[in-house]
Amino acid sequence: MYDIQSYHVEWLVTSEQLQSDVTIRFSNRLVLSIEPGRTADAVELGPVAMVEGLVNAHTHLEFSSLSKPIPTTGQFTDWIRSVVKYRRENPGLTSEAIGAGIEESWQSGTTVLGDIATVGWSADDYSKAGFQGTVFQEVLGLSPDRIQQQIELARSHLNGHTANAPRGVSPHAPYSTHLDLFRQAVEIAIRTNSLLTMHLAETKAELELLRTGTGEFREMLMDFGIWNDTLFQTPLKPMDYLELLAKAPRSLIIHGNYLDDTELKFLASQPQMTLVYCPRTHAAFGHSEHPWRRLIELGGRVAIGTDSRASNPDLSLFAELQFLTACHPDLSQLDLLRIGSRNGRLALGFEPHSRSKTPADFTLIRLADSALRSPHPELFGPANRVCGTMVNGHWVWLAPDLASQTLSS
Ligand SMILES: [Zn+2]
Repeated sequence: MYDIQSYHVEWLVTSEQLQSDVTIRFSNRLVLSIEPGRTADAVELGPVAMVEGLVNAHTHLEFSSLSKPIPTTGQFTDWIRSVVKYRRENPGLTSEAIGAGIEESWQSGTTVLGDIATVGWSADDYSKAGFQGTVFQEVLGLSPDRIQQQIELARSHLNGHTANAPRGVSPHAPYSTHLDLFRQAVEIAIRTNSLLTMHLAETKAELELLRTGTGEFREMLMDFGIWNDTLFQTPLKPMDYLELLAKAPRSLIIHGNYLDDTELKFLASQPQMTLVYCPRTHAAFGHSEHPWRRLIELGGRVAIGTDSRASNPDLSLFAELQFLTACHPDLSQLDLLRIGSRNGRLALGFEPHSRSKTPADFTLIRLADSALRSPHPELFGPANRVCGTMVNGHWVWLAPDLASQTLSS
């Protein structure tokens, strides 16, 4: 027997349905029923919208201890150099940062995360904080001598991959990952039926490195002492990477800021691939306009990520959706909800909400204008606030007033 919990809310919003004045019953991590009005046993949550749980499809929780982002105003490689320095100077912060990042995610309404883990982490760091999501083991290195050790690292992580707890591997980026290491990471993802993610086409400088082996990345790699003249000799394009990434059961392309139309059309033709757009990080680096709307127009899948606190002031996926609402007032809030929730679940290997089976992962949003006849026009309006987060049928966070109400009922 499982406990049944019932809550009455003013609005229930998923990317498939909108209902008002309903009681939602939960049992065994699923929605059991949705009934009109308030049933006798229902806890009253008041003028809030219970929304399909938000999904942060890309972050690096290990940087969650940073109180403010590392400056993004210079060259991109200046930022990379500062990130490398920060990591070197703070080797002991990883466990604490992962816990803090998960807690921050709960408090901002996120229910599922896609996290990139590097070194110095343990499964406990995630389970202690009640993590729900996909952990990707990062692999990188430009020296052929490193490949075997990196693949071993990925293999031991992916051994725990199951349908209920998806795992993945992340070859970091074209400028940091030897082509042979990248190819082997793709193979191991295929063999273990795991997920694959990679930062790709993030900067114009990356495209230059791939095309001609020159530019700021070459200078940085020389300064790091890891350049050699056999690297980046054959001209490549992001498409060369996309074609390999497409072979994995599921892959997430991070950023894709400079994918061209041919590459976007290719992505749109691959339903197992998702482009993860990180709106505020993209804006912080001052990139050209992001092609996410073009990809949607072409029929491709877009999900949203915060990236890390090394480039973003917080880990709030809700704030990303508020930012997009302000930048794209013509877009429907339901379309934004879809890319901020359902698409992220699909990308990370989690079952999406459906009419027949609805996982109990929800974000509660307090609407600033409680007289709204429908939350549609401004679900992610600037004055709205997250006031609760339900993961797997448990409240992992509730605003203090709601918490006292819920506990006293
Ligand atoms: Zn990233």
